[in-house]
Amino acid sequence: MEFFSVDNLGKRFGGLKAIDSLGFSVNKGEIFSVIGPNGAGKSTLFNCINGLYRPDEGSIRFKGEELIGLKTHEVAARGIGRTFQNLELFENMTTMENLMLGRHMHMKTGLMASTLMFRRGAKASQDEIQNRAEVEKIIDLLELQSIRNKFVSQLPYGAKKLVELGRALAAEPELLLLDEPAAGLTNDEKEELIFWIRDIRDELGITIIMIEHNMQMVAEISDRVMAINFGKKLVEGLVDEVTSHEEVIKAYLGEGV
Ligand code: ADP
Ligand code: MG
Repeated sequence: MEFFSVDNLGKRFGGLKAIDSLGFSVNKGEIFSVIGPNGAGKSTLFNCINGLYRPDEGSIRFKGEELIGLKTHEVAARGIGRTFQNLELFENMTTMENLMLGRHMHMKTGLMASTLMFRRGAKASQDEIQNRAEVEKIIDLLELQSIRNKFVSQLPYGAKKLVELGRALAAEPELLLLDEPAAGLTNDEKEELIFWIRDIRDELGITIIMIEHNMQMVAEISDRVMAINFGKKLVEGLVDEVTSHEEVIKAYLGEGV
């Protein structure tokens, strides 16, 4: 059975075909990158996968199940996590609290109730202890110890991006969608991120689909790459095949990359 596949996917906004007859598949354990100029339809693809947008046609299958028609929380519950191009964090909560919120689908107690109880120092339930243990693993993995009790609003941009990655991991996804994880990071932070992403795949066994503009990063960590423009696939293959492809170069030249 195929792990993840998209077939003949279409999504229109008025007269604009943001996704046009798009098809590809991703194997379990792969790091699969999606590249393409601004406006190519990359984020729209993620929004279709995670149920934020309802595609007009086609199919999106994960471990044999059709995802189209499911709500975002239903897609998440099936093991698909994501980060956003524009961060989606609770700024007035701490790193730890944001990660705990990432686990809400695993929580028996209501997520707000649980966070507030923790703030008041109430005795933790067995469920809560289990959830905190899972979050601790992620704090260790991404080395977030020094910012665990800081409010997200006080963190620099690079740290916020890591917290968002941690929040997505806290849900224990099998497939992780990363929308421009390196955007806005310093060179050092980009190098670090390359390690984290490798660790996430190698140590946690999570399959990754990554939208990324930074070609060095794409080249360093991708198993396969797909280039799209105007919602259509230009080419798919190994990094070198894709980045040296004439149509891909042309699409990027239009952007001055
Ligand atoms: P990318 O992530 O590749 O830069 P997007 O997927 O964000 O591109 O956008 C693809 C196209 O779809 C763009 O022309 C964008 O303006 C349009 N688009 C995306 N989301 C919406 C929306 N909610 N309403 C209308 N148009 C949209
Ligand atoms: Mg985008």
